[in-house]
Amino acid sequence: MLHTIKSEIDLDAPGKHVGYLRLPHSVHRSAYGWLPIPIASIKRGEGPVFIVSAGSHGDEYEGQIIASSLMRDISPDMVNGQIIILPMLNFPAADAGTRTSPLDDGNLNRLFPGVQSGTPTQVIAHFVEHILLAKADYIVDLHSGGSSLLYDGANMMALEPRDAEEEARVIGLLKAFGLPRAFLYQPNSVNITAAARRQNALCFLTELGGAGNVDKAILQQGRQGLLHLMGFTGVLSGSLVPESAPAEPQLMSIDRLTHYAYANHRGIWEPLAQLGDEVQAGQPAALIHFPDEPLREPQVVTFDGSGQVICKRATARVKRGDCLFQLAAKRLGLLDI
Ligand SMILES: [Zn+2]
Repeated sequence: MLHTIKSEIDLDAPGKHVGYLRLPHSVHRSAYGWLPIPIASIKRGEGPVFIVSAGSHGDEYEGQIIASSLMRDISPDMVNGQIIILPMLNFPAADAGTRTSPLDDGNLNRLFPGVQSGTPTQVIAHFVEHILLAKADYIVDLHSGGSSLLYDGANMMALEPRDAEEEARVIGLLKAFGLPRAFLYQPNSVNITAAARRQNALCFLTELGGAGNVDKAILQQGRQGLLHLMGFTGVLSGSLVPESAPAEPQLMSIDRLTHYAYANHRGIWEPLAQLGDEVQAGQPAALIHFPDEPLREPQVVTFDGSGQVICKRATARVKRGDCLFQLAAKRLGLLDI
């Protein structure tokens, strides 16, 4: 398929190739210019096609470091099939260190299936779904809390399986990935997980810390988990695949309606719960303070659902509608199958 984006490297060629996807960008200072989206393809023999992407949200840095390190460390003799690595998938956002693209305000993980001749972020989404995911068996899209949120440690995310056979396969892969928690959630057609499902590829996301920062232990856990998973699928072999067994993950689910707590006023928020706490519906979650009206009592925010606090807002100033906490509830029994 001819596409608006042109790849400098041949994605069907054996061996290790590193270059850029050229995203056309005609502006005042560069009339016939393009923006460089880094990409590597490492291909040898028969086996699955496994994509690792990061920088879908440009202020999530852990994945960008992990993906870049894999790009340097993986050589063709370790590969059975193909590994494609993109450390700055929404390059304009990652280059600016912002969640969305400064060019079009595009949030890449809300724009699938994309538009072939649309705005820069729409064009990237279209290329990912119709060129990359169309040839993939697996994709791991590395996310974290970004500038505004902080996740508790290293976590995995996947779509709720559609049947028992898919459930057994997905849970086997999550166990191989082996990060401490796995969140299962309902599909949203504009996300990369749904795009992968449309193209018959299996997509896992991570949520690795965040707060606009990088944590050494979380980074190490994320990289080791990914290498475990690649070894399990057969696409990677050799010294990079960890010998130690992956940890047993806790399987959890996130309820779209009750597992989020939001600021109900503009002000400064005081958390009344911490990451990892078990909380109940109706329990106070936060106080919103109004230091410009010092005699005014703070406003109370309560939890709408019960579960474990897995994510919290990373900064103190809030407006109505800002997410303060995200919860997840244990999804019992399934890991016994
Ligand atoms: Zn993200």
